[in-house]
Amino acid sequence: MNLLDLPASQWPDKFQELGEASYRGRQTAHWVFRKGITDPRAMTNLPPSTRALLEEERRLGIPSLESAHTSVDGTRKLALRLADGPVIESVLIPRKGRMTLCLSTQAGCGIGCRFCRTAAMGLIRNLSPSEILGQWIQAMRLLGFPTDRAKEGLSIDHVVFMGMGEPLANLDALIPAIRSLTHPDGIGLSPRRITVSTSGLVPKMRLLGEANLGIQLAVSLCAPDDLLRREIMPVGRIYSIAEILEACREFPLRNRERVTFEYVLLKGKNDRPEQARSLGRLLAPFRSKVNLIPFNPFPGSPFERPEEEVVQVFADILSGFHITATVRKSMGPDVLAACGQLARERVASAGAEY
Ligand code: SF4
Repeated sequence: MNLLDLPASQWPDKFQELGEASYRGRQTAHWVFRKGITDPRAMTNLPPSTRALLEEERRLGIPSLESAHTSVDGTRKLALRLADGPVIESVLIPRKGRMTLCLSTQAGCGIGCRFCRTAAMGLIRNLSPSEILGQWIQAMRLLGFPTDRAKEGLSIDHVVFMGMGEPLANLDALIPAIRSLTHPDGIGLSPRRITVSTSGLVPKMRLLGEANLGIQLAVSLCAPDDLLRREIMPVGRIYSIAEILEACREFPLRNRERVTFEYVLLKGKNDRPEQARSLGRLLAPFRSKVNLIPFNPFPGSPFERPEEEVVQVFADILSGFHITATVRKSMGPDVLAACGQLARERVASAGAEY
């Protein structure tokens, strides 16, 4: 049993179950989430017996950091190796006084979006909560584990689940990981600063809503009609746009919060003015904003990136429908860290650490 697979709020009870004083659970969580220490031997305020218990079966194991590449724009792509071999990626994005961490939830992905490099890997396996939180710990270590959260942009202040994998295909790990991200005994991040992005798995969107985590939802739409969406995103054959919009309507949001729709713009495919108008008509009655993502090419990709003017016309048309449309700046394309560019070869050797 890896402790990091349990929400941080449950650590005291778990310690009691293991025959330890419950407050040792909070002490251990402090080492892990406030200092980034996962080697029990370094937890100096724990008695030797507790340290030995934690060392047993790697109860605080996380993926090991294999490499970190920094883009010219400051974006850092982390490659982390899982205990059984696969490598996953996370991305640290410094922007406008913020530090956002983009997390993976699966090794590879089985959804098959045609504009995404991860899709070519297929699904290797789901990540556990400890493997999701391990990405945060490794990223924080790279930043030097800054404790001064008041200084914007020094520490990770936003988390987006937009890395490798479809987060909602791994709800069993996603939900406990988010609970540790937000609990005061864990990372203590405001749920408003956490965004989960989905390709539109309707029943799972409802389950996520029912978990009442207080997080933000983003849906990758990428087409104004089902016919085109099915071609670009095969998952569109299972769930229609109408069903997705209905699930978005039911998603619990606070006042003034809106669902974000992501729209990867593919040259000559879904970037025409009439398609922008169709999208505008579709979303105008809806409490939403649109994030336009000009396609980030990768080796062997079937699509091209549209010109900037085309992107701007698309955004302007949406604005005409009173929809907030923002164009996402590509971060880290030179190290293949931008949206849709994450992928790793299948690997055989194993690696993980305390
Ligand atoms: S965009 Fe997301 S859901 Fe689609 S294939 Fe890539 S990782 Fe999977």
